Amino acid sequence: MTGDPNSNGLWAVSAAETFSAPALTDDISVDLAIIGGGFTGTAAALAAAKAGARVCLLEANRIGHGGSGRNVGLVNAGLWLPPDTITAQLGPETGERLSTLLATAPDLVFDLIAEHAIACEPVRSGTLHCAHAPSGLRDLQNRHAQLTARGAPVSLLGDTETASRTGTDAFGGALFDPRAGTIQPLAYNRGLARAAQTAGALIHEATPVQRIAPDGEGWTLSAPGWTIRAGAMIMATNAYHQPFRGAETPPHLLVHFFQAATAPGLAEQVVPGGEGLWDTAPVMTSLRTDAAGRVILGAMGALDHPGGGLHRGWAERKLARLFPHLKGTPFQQVWFGRIAMTPAHLPEIQRLGPNGLAVHGYSGRGIGPGTLFGTRLAEVSLGADPSRLPVAPIAPYRLKAPGLRSTIFETGATALHAVSARF
Ligand SMILES: Cc1cc2nc3c(=O)[nH]c(=O)nc-3n(C[C@H](O)[C@H](O)[C@H](O)COP(=O)(O)OP(=O)(O)OC[C@H]3O[C@@H](n4cnc5c(N)ncnc54)[C@H](O)[C@@H]3O)c2cc1C
Repeated sequence: MTGDPNSNGLWAVSAAETFSAPALTDDISVDLAIIGGGFTGTAAALAAAKAGARVCLLEANRIGHGGSGRNVGLVNAGLWLPPDTITAQLGPETGERLSTLLATAPDLVFDLIAEHAIACEPVRSGTLHCAHAPSGLRDLQNRHAQLTARGAPVSLLGDTETASRTGTDAFGGALFDPRAGTIQPLAYNRGLARAAQTAGALIHEATPVQRIAPDGEGWTLSAPGWTIRAGAMIMATNAYHQPFRGAETPPHLLVHFFQAATAPGLAEQVVPGGEGLWDTAPVMTSLRTDAAGRVILGAMGALDHPGGGLHRGWAERKLARLFPHLKGTPFQQVWFGRIAMTPAHLPEIQRLGPNGLAVHGYSGRGIGPGTLFGTRLAEVSLGADPSRLPVAPIAPYRLKAPGLRSTIFETGATALHAVSARF
């Protein structure tokens, strides 16, 4: 059990994919330089290498160090926000286009997994968004109406079917989305890196970018001791941005989310169909199993904050409440990560200068979106029509008091975990 902010928890223990790459040890010149080795950066590197470009990816730590190596592994067909809200925020044309594109993102992810034989426990059994209360059921009915109006093959399940699909009677209904699924996220991230490297991408771990500067139509990047000249650049550092000169820290709030995993072999009566699950509560709970039969529970909260112990205690009580036969089951791994939330809860692409793009703020939904945005950013960086981008680039801006707002989220989650699920 660890509150170590560098831990990938279970995913480091169970990943069938391994990946390592040396630090940069030379000056290089490339068509495209990518900063950050999460889903976004590795998907971009793969797309660029497949297109025949000379591309390098610079990762400060290891591939999967950030959100991509820590998340729940739910491959969703959209964002956190329902599609009407996306359209209200972005306008009919861009909003509907983004929702349509993201509906296909699970296909992109599962196709890449199959094409590159990525050993990441892919399960395409759908997801269950479960009602924690009558208000949650109304939210699901509303989402169902919005999604079916757009042709999505989602269905609303009553309480009896929800109980048999989840293995618990804690929920009053569920929205089932068969387009979605689950993966072992760190293994998927490493598999994308391996595929990119095999296709010719230069990948360097332990290579923090320390400075970027426009250089004619392209960019010069500095990493310890070495210089990278690039015709185009993508910054994909997101919630794990390590500051460097020449670019602002991406403007988002950081929300923490932790997970706790049991020993293998305990999942028989837990979500027996293998769907990934989360609920409608304001401080939501996630639940899934893995290939070894572990039960993995998650919720908002940081484990290295003073309330870390409260979050762990909550997870033990919640597991017992959902599945009484698992009462007293210890967790073998506990880990957490940072989620980047933009003010509108929508991902943003920023134009950094000539042939320089940054993307951030998937706001809790980065597997499908990160893979899609990374792929499209690479295409446009290498000369495709900018209309290929899922959203139009905007100018960089600063957010007021992001640290204070993140603290408010953490305090709310801690307070709720201190008082909830006590029975
Ligand atoms: C606990 C948790 C649960 C989540 N659950 C889900 C889920 O179930 N489904 C879903 O779709 N999404 C989920 N998300 C969101 C998703 O994980 C993220 O949106 C996604 O991983 C972001 O990918 P990325 O490549 O943009 O960024 P990251 O994966 O964060 O990668 C950024 C990388 O940039 C590197 N970097 C930073 N600064 C530098 C520098 N100066 N030089 C070089 N490299 C640098 C970092 O080391 C890091 O590896 C979850 C997130 C968390 C934290």
